[in-house]
Amino acid sequence: MHELGITRSIVEIAEGHAREQGATRVLSLTVQIGALSGVIPEAVEFAFEACSQGTLLEGARLIIDAVPGRGRCRACGAESAMDRFTYACPHCDALALDTVQGEELRILELEVD
Ligand SMILES: [Zn+2]
Repeated sequence: MHELGITRSIVEIAEGHAREQGATRVLSLTVQIGALSGVIPEAVEFAFEACSQGTLLEGARLIIDAVPGRGRCRACGAESAMDRFTYACPHCDALALDTVQGEELRILELEVD
């Protein structure tokens, strides 16, 4: 489960930001996770409690902002929903989809005390 390492990094980065702001604890953390990022939101939620133990994020609320995948076809220009297993344009069947959104993996917001 690579989400464990990813969650640990998210916690470390968030804690760094919180310390910079002179915070004593983090109340909530919003993380944006794209459907094409290869990261499973549920696994991050699961790992968060263990990873946040003993940090400024212990007890913080984890809010996951799930971003659906979208692709744009280089052949016909159509935009369509895209998941990790979609490679062809649903409009013209060209194997020419560029990712428009869905690869996000970042901290969006940090609420500190
Ligand atoms: Zn197309």
